[in-house]
Amino acid sequence: MSRRRVTFSRNFTLSLSRTCRCYCKYCAFATHRPHLYAPDEVERLLDDAVRRGAKELLVLTGERPEVNPEVASRLASYGHDDFTAYVAWACERALERGLLPHTNIGAVSKADLARLREVTASQGLMLESVNPDLVVHQGSPTKHPAVRLDTIRTAGELKIPFTSGILVGIGESPEERLDSLAALAAVHAEYGHLQEVILQNFVPHPRYYGAEPAEIADEAQQTGAHGEPVDTPAWATPITLDDMRVLVRECRRLMPDVGVQIPPNLSDWWLPLVDGGATDLGGLSANGDHISPEHPFPSPHRMRKLLQPNGYALTERLCVYPQYMDGEWLEPGVLDVIKRKYWSFIPRRGSGRRSDRSIRRDLVAPAIEKAREGGRLDAEELTAMFAETRPEAIEDMRQAADDLRREVAGDEVTFVVNRNINVSNICVVGCAFCGFGQGKRSPDAYEHGEEEFVRRVREAVEFGATEICMQSGIHPDWTIDDYEGWLRLAQEVAPDVHLHAYSPMEVDHLAGNMPLDEVFARLKEAGLGSTPGTAAEVLDDGVRERISPNKLPVRRWVEVMEASARAGLSTSATVMFGHIEEPWELAEHMRVIRELQERTDAFNEFVPLSFIPFHTLLGRTHGIEEISREENLKHTAVFRLALGRSVRSLQASWVKMGLDAATEALDWGVNDLGGTLMEENISRLAGSYHGVRLEPHDLIGAAHAAGRPAAERTTLYGIRKSYPLAEEVLAAGADQGGGAGTVVFGDEAA
Ligand code: SF4
Repeated sequence: MSRRRVTFSRNFTLSLSRTCRCYCKYCAFATHRPHLYAPDEVERLLDDAVRRGAKELLVLTGERPEVNPEVASRLASYGHDDFTAYVAWACERALERGLLPHTNIGAVSKADLARLREVTASQGLMLESVNPDLVVHQGSPTKHPAVRLDTIRTAGELKIPFTSGILVGIGESPEERLDSLAALAAVHAEYGHLQEVILQNFVPHPRYYGAEPAEIADEAQQTGAHGEPVDTPAWATPITLDDMRVLVRECRRLMPDVGVQIPPNLSDWWLPLVDGGATDLGGLSANGDHISPEHPFPSPHRMRKLLQPNGYALTERLCVYPQYMDGEWLEPGVLDVIKRKYWSFIPRRGSGRRSDRSIRRDLVAPAIEKAREGGRLDAEELTAMFAETRPEAIEDMRQAADDLRREVAGDEVTFVVNRNINVSNICVVGCAFCGFGQGKRSPDAYEHGEEEFVRRVREAVEFGATEICMQSGIHPDWTIDDYEGWLRLAQEVAPDVHLHAYSPMEVDHLAGNMPLDEVFARLKEAGLGSTPGTAAEVLDDGVRERISPNKLPVRRWVEVMEASARAGLSTSATVMFGHIEEPWELAEHMRVIRELQERTDAFNEFVPLSFIPFHTLLGRTHGIEEISREENLKHTAVFRLALGRSVRSLQASWVKMGLDAATEALDWGVNDLGGTLMEENISRLAGSYHGVRLEPHDLIGAAHAAGRPAAERTTLYGIRKSYPLAEEVLAAGADQGGGAGTVVFGDEAA
């Protein structure tokens, strides 16, 4: 099962004017009396939007409110010639506060759309229906489908990222619904500007004469109380879940690149419709739904809980979809706000780059040759390689990484039979990329007792594990005695199992003020066999400040690793990439690793860990998407080239990238597939969907599928058992046994 992102936007609604020239029968929003917020009220509401954490300002209005003379005179008194000018003014005030405006002010002229384009991130207009004769639209001239399609088309001409949709159940026939979607698809085929299509089911509303829907909506949103059901009017058409499923399917078929939005407050069927292909739950307004005020939005927390078991990750988006975040679709002033405040939402576009810095592409070809010989690549060369997008250059990097792998690690693909034990997930650090750590009082927090720990160690022994890998959250109450205690207990139960434990962050925490040499001496004495070089993330303090400000800085990470090396412990080096980092920051990471290795020779492997965004703060609220397989493989090759001959083993993490991609990575410089793990919590809780354990035969099969011999290794890369390819076995003679494996030696290599 793959995990799918379902998006929503955190917005705040400003119903700038409810005065409307139309008379749609389903509408409880519009009024024909003068309604217009004054500038000081608008500024107050915008401040409120910021205070409530909105990123989008949804400007909703009636159609052409200035046809009302009182509205026109108030606009004039505020210094605006027409209503659009006032909307633009409100959008400018929103941008100043870092809010991205999305306007939905009806069927307006090309000039008005263009004026609003200068101050909005996106705009919208519902098509509603292609039926021109609906009873509900009598008296509403701009609800004629030709007028609306014309506006939608004009928005395309002007390159405005646009939201449209249909109303379902307002008297139209099932065929007309499909025709409406086909009409939207035709416009989108021409201009490519539709970012999402809303399938909005009609729900009957009470009338709000004399009341303010914005206030009713806000109160309902705060209390969560839905209004009483209202009788369905005679002109309405009944709608079923199956009807909606058909529409979702049709949207996906006609416009596969366009989001399908289902309002989650208007029915209970949004979850089955997500199953049916819907991708978005719309703008969840902090101050409620002004069109259906008696229907508050469910909280993101509640929706997330409902989506998660079905394999969906609820993640935030901006009002403008990622594919439109560039100078072709957005005005510089709007793009600047995104770059300044929401830069993490800007897609990586294959190069891994989010900010402008010149990249010396001319350096790549000579750098590949230099790397093939094991030469040390400088920052500019590595930056260019991490940012590379040209397929031929990437293929050259792959070949060079593959050659280097063959030279330094041979053809054998190794793996270790191991078990992870995460003794506790209680953590005080709060890294934005982490889905594992929990506060002490969280209902999801756990802490294994001794009995459970011993059971897990025994299970590992029964499984044939030669290594136990122990890492936990940063538990506020644990001291070095606790960490020693877990090592001693594991050693007592499984004296032959290698203990690979404690990240540099854990070591830093348990050390307190104790000198690191003393710390490692004590941990070794308690049974520590080697250390994982995790908590490295990206070894650049600028990145660390942004994704894990409470984590140890680079200088301390290096200190811990040097002390580990002085204690004679082998260690792995890691990198966590594919989130907010820039290519030059990865280049810096590799400089730190390579120089440290040249000083200590302690790293026996390098483990690239691609970021899993789904259930992490970075993924949920910063728009970070999972790195593509192609980018992941390209980075893998660059890591091999960056290491040169300094670190022998390069590992692919099947937990992060899936076994299939890890198998492919064997052609991109990789010689090791890591461990069987038995239980994997850290990536799983971040939303990884690649499983939590593998059997040795899975890893042997992966190596063989890549045409390479396999071998079970120890933590320290001693070969325990070889699994040659079938043809090698045949060539060596049938009497030596087939795929059952050949025992080489059982001790750990020095
Ligand atoms: S990554 Fe580690 S230190 Fe950071 S929050 Fe998660 S468990 Fe805690």
